[in-house]
Amino acid sequence: MPAAHSKPGGSAIRDVVLAVHGGAGSVPRGSISDERELAYHEGLTAALRAGQRVLDGGGSSLDVVEAAVRELEDHPNFNAGRGAAFNADAGHELDASIMNGRDLSAGAVAGVRHVRNPISLARLVMERSDHVLLAGDGAEAFALRHGVPYSTQDYFFTQRRWDALLAAKKPEAPRSRGGGTVGAVAVDRSGDMAAATSTGGMTNMLAGRIGDSPVIGAGTYADNRTVAVSCTGTGEVFLRGVAAYDIAALMAYTGAPVDHAAGTVILEKIPGLGALGGAIALDPDGALSTPHSSEGLVNGYLTRDGKIVTRVYDDETPAAG
Ligand code: ASP
Repeated sequence: MPAAHSKPGGSAIRDVVLAVHGGAGSVPRGSISDERELAYHEGLTAALRAGQRVLDGGGSSLDVVEAAVRELEDHPNFNAGRGAAFNADAGHELDASIMNGRDLSAGAVAGVRHVRNPISLARLVMERSDHVLLAGDGAEAFALRHGVPYSTQDYFFTQRRWDALLAAKKPEAPRSRGGGTVGAVAVDRSGDMAAATSTGGMTNMLAGRIGDSPVIGAGTYADNRTVAVSCTGTGEVFLRGVAAYDIAALMAYTGAPVDHAAGTVILEKIPGLGALGGAIALDPDGALSTPHSSEGLVNGYLTRDGKIVTRVYDDETPAAG
């Protein structure tokens, strides 16, 4: 590794075939109940196992990231699908995107309100339309035309997110509001890479607000030649910093290894633009980088030999790791 590329970002984890994240945020040890800690580990493990089953069955990396993200969307603990945040109108608007690193095809949906698994709708957009990104009513109509079951908004109700909305509405509440997102990156036996991201956005966001998660290049990017990336953090800043593509571009144009590229963007550039967050970034050889400027990044990974590791607390995911 050239000396110029040795920092920042710490060193990558090796031999990873699938990684998932459950959002950037601070989870100091002892600050959450044992029950919730367990729920995080269970959710991450279930997502990794879902992906592992697909990989073992010979599925593609695209199938793997979709399966893993669906699992996280179904889990009430994460801000995506079932556990989505409330917007300022006390409703839910969900965003998701998926990208195939083999041919750079991609699909995304934004502001969907009645779809339990936006990641699968994003994949349908990729495979069954001529478009990359569908939003709002058009995305809902597309879902119905393709037989995606309609779900009423109460499906997305969780007490925790409701309490977070009420707290955010208090006049003395800080301006920055809780977010969270889920994502997955994978490489399969053919060396094909994929990335997927899904979110309920930010608590108390204006109706119609769209963050980075459904925007290819900002929240999600995958290219077999360099990296698969899924980001989490204040979407406005990840959009302005074109974060996911910037990691890929650094690798493509300078030959930087994944840990250096992801570290540069997530630990230097994005904080320089005024926000904290994190990313999971996997290179074609299975090197995983999980940098975050937020105190923690809930994440986990599966290695080639079947080992599963899940990390919830900020001291398990040092910022440079
Ligand atoms: N990036 C997400 C958004 O802005 C939120 C998050 O990851 O915390 O919608």
